[in-house]
Amino acid sequence: MIWLIWFVAILAAFGVLVWYVVAAPGSQVLGATLVCGPPDSGKIALTFDDGPGEATPLVLDMLQEAGIRATFFLCGENVERYPEYARRIAQEGHEIGNHTYSHPRLLGRTPGKIAWEIERAQRIIAHHTGRQPALFRPPYGLRWFGLFPILARNRMTAVMWSVNSFDWKLPVEKIVRRVLRGVRPGTIVLFHDGVPPRQSGDRKATVAALGEILRKLGGRYRFVKVSEMRSATASESAE
Ligand SMILES: [Zn+2]
Repeated sequence: MIWLIWFVAILAAFGVLVWYVVAAPGSQVLGATLVCGPPDSGKIALTFDDGPGEATPLVLDMLQEAGIRATFFLCGENVERYPEYARRIAQEGHEIGNHTYSHPRLLGRTPGKIAWEIERAQRIIAHHTGRQPALFRPPYGLRWFGLFPILARNRMTAVMWSVNSFDWKLPVEKIVRRVLRGVRPGTIVLFHDGVPPRQSGDRKATVAALGEILRKLGGRYRFVKVSEMRSATASESAE
């Protein structure tokens, strides 16, 4: 009997370890991943995943009104569906990152499949926006073996987040509260302006919460694109 308890305990510990390695936002085990910027910068970066989608123009209007640049991690399949929104993101000076073609979980996928997802999205984004993304965000935040050599080959950096708004499931007030509580200098915030290809839902809560978050945070922080957060990190550590 005791051996069974040991067996289950070891299995559970192994499971927790693997989960940390592939899923924890701050995990650096599989490869270097940008999670936040320097804490003394006064900067924060807003990021939007899974687009473009129906809510993208509303998000862009709000960012434009506030004079803010953000970073959008696009799915290739959604760019094919809403190419004019993808173009607008680029034209309005926002940064574009790669969020795969069809938004699969990368767990257990072969390097060939992972490369296909990333490189196909890269070609579609470049075709419609003229931009070659240098940033990659894994769907569901899940990294896997073989991912990082593919990112290196495509000269891309993996980006996670330090505040997750959970805007895809929480009501507006809770999204606002979570973000306002979590934000500090250097924070990278995760939002969603789109819905993964072939999934349903809307981003009304994101749009409503974003308006309030921008009103409350405006003036207290400098909003930057993720690459500006990154270059600040590099230049400060070089000094
Ligand atoms: Zn996603």
